[in-house]
Amino acid sequence: MSREQLQWPEGVKRTKQRESVFAVLQNAERPLSAMEICTAIDKLDGAASAWLSTVYRVLELFVEKDVVVKTSLINSDMALYELNRLQHKHYATCIKCHKIIALDNCPMEQSAPPIENGSFQVIGHRLEFFGYCKDCSKTLMEKCGS
Ligand SMILES: [Zn+2]
Ligand SMILES: [Zn+2]
Repeated sequence: MSREQLQWPEGVKRTKQRESVFAVLQNAERPLSAMEICTAIDKLDGAASAWLSTVYRVLELFVEKDVVVKTSLINSDMALYELNRLQHKHYATCIKCHKIIALDNCPMEQSAPPIENGSFQVIGHRLEFFGYCKDCSKTLMEKCGS
């Protein structure tokens, strides 16, 4: 599946580290933690390695400029970051191994709940799905001896 490539955000000064963080998020299949972004930058071709504190600073700036959306998941105090794309995505989290799986579509597109007499303008939403991934549900089944 090809994803739209986002342009460098207007009004944000380019620095090597900001570009690296942006590039990592651009290629990410799911929201990443600051730690994962830091590790990914180390693997980028020709990128200077980044300090975690620098990555946090860049992310804070991106969140402030609406370039990046910060989310945290249930049962986790770890914040995750993803680019603020017009075409949004939803994710399902495995409660056992914490694997995150991207959903193919938005369930709200067909069934957005009506909001009372237009008293509120909805501009977005967050949905969280959780359960067991394929591997974990298999292990659970085996444990039950079925
Ligand atoms: Zn799992
Ligand atoms: Zn949605």
